[in-house]
Amino acid sequence: MSKLTFKTSIDFVYGKPKIMVPGVRRIVANNPSSFTFKGTNTYIVGQGNDVAVIDPGPKDDYHYSAIMAATVSKQITHIFVTHTHLDHVDGLKSLAEATGATICGCSHSMCHGNFDNSSMVYNVSSDVQVFPTIQLYHGSQVNGSDWSLTAIFTPGHAPDHLCFELKGTGILFSGDHVMGWSTSLIAPPEGHMGDYFASLEMLARRNDVVYYPGHGGQIEQPKRLVKAYILHRKVREKIILAAVQNGCCTITDIVTHTYKRHDPNLTKAVLLTVQAHIEHLSQQKLVNIDCPVTKNSRIVASKVAR
Ligand SMILES: [Zn+2]
Repeated sequence: MSKLTFKTSIDFVYGKPKIMVPGVRRIVANNPSSFTFKGTNTYIVGQGNDVAVIDPGPKDDYHYSAIMAATVSKQITHIFVTHTHLDHVDGLKSLAEATGATICGCSHSMCHGNFDNSSMVYNVSSDVQVFPTIQLYHGSQVNGSDWSLTAIFTPGHAPDHLCFELKGTGILFSGDHVMGWSTSLIAPPEGHMGDYFASLEMLARRNDVVYYPGHGGQIEQPKRLVKAYILHRKVREKIILAAVQNGCCTITDIVTHTYKRHDPNLTKAVLLTVQAHIEHLSQQKLVNIDCPVTKNSRIVASKVAR
């Protein structure tokens, strides 16, 4: 099993903007959990009169007031959305209405159609009602007076996930695609392991200097971490394939045999992560699984994989 080293330190005070670099401030929302770490990061970009907000965060009066106080002498002209999980967009409506800002993101329904979110493991399922004013695609660029953000399409954690490059700085806002405190949760039906691998491979070919993620502290030498995450998932997938070849015949069975020491509070997340790997193995024709896929669907290794 590949060992990952996580960065679990983050220097912050809830509600207090922290200057990351001139022109980028971060406010951490007070919504800590097993899935959000200390809380959702909201970033304010720009030093001029017009600023952009990346991820308004949860619906929370204290967090909303903190964003408004941090921009009191400025105009929030744009609100960018990395993806439409509620811990990132539940506060969008009030902020957009108060500021008249243009909403920039990838519409959930534009990506993969509508989802039944019933299997989502966390109560941060998607807000499919988010319709951006500006629909962003891979490479779309939006400019303010002293900032320019480029959308980098990175599905996997969510089908509508975007990272944002801050032009001329080496900074990439990495959302929940790459975080330093934990690997991303890839939970079907929204999570897609094949897309996640492809999005990681794409970032590994880039030369960003630092990532500012949706949860947790900044990530230095991000390329090294991205490569470690790719390796970690490949190793994990090999272990899962080996478990199937050795007779594990359901997702439940695989979890019992390969995730022996997981936190019992995260069992549903672990089951869905294994499901995502099995779906990816199935797409590669390495296993066959009965549909519809559930935690007790029968899985067999295909002849190619034996
Ligand atoms: Zn999140």
